[in-house]
Amino acid sequence: MPKYAMVIDMTKCAACQACTVACEAEWGLPPGEKFTRLEERETGSFPNVQREFLLIQCQHCDNAPCVEVCPTGATYKRDDGIVLVDEKRCAGCKYCMVACPYQARVINHEKGVPEKCRFCYHRVEQGKKPACVSTCIGEARYFGDLDNPNDEIHRIIQEKQAKPLRGDLGTKPSIYYVR
Ligand code: SF4
Ligand code: SF4
Repeated sequence: MPKYAMVIDMTKCAACQACTVACEAEWGLPPGEKFTRLEERETGSFPNVQREFLLIQCQHCDNAPCVEVCPTGATYKRDDGIVLVDEKRCAGCKYCMVACPYQARVINHEKGVPEKCRFCYHRVEQGKKPACVSTCIGEARYFGDLDNPNDEIHRIIQEKQAKPLRGDLGTKPSIYYVR
């Protein structure tokens, strides 16, 4: 069974947001609903302040707080590591939105369902890469299978010393960042 993961190399990201647009088109998202967003942050302290861009989306956590709090089982994690939402089972309580430490969820006002990145599972099942990965001209995104020892993702994580966001939380994200 594969265990999907992604590397986002912010040192290669041009902040062009082509990935965000590709995602919106892939999923036909309504205006204002984005599964991936570009955040601008300040790091360090005065006078050594730096600006940092960070792409945030669902981290497909192994210990996903959103899965734990969902009272209906609408939010679930597949064996391949992808966290999904079954909108038919969703009660619209938004517990998952509150529980997510990455603010990765966005409400679909039409359906009343908190949605998020789906790791383009439909493309992955056809052997394709997620839309954001295929679109990135800077090759800042890489998608692979952690369960396959021959997958390049192992080398990329190691060589680039990619790390999950807020590893201290114990959520065990499936996205690794180079910053
Ligand atoms: S990032 Fe948030 S929405 Fe995604 S699996 Fe983790 S807790 Fe759930
Ligand atoms: S809003 Fe839906 S998916 Fe989120 S916790 Fe409630 S029932 Fe689960």
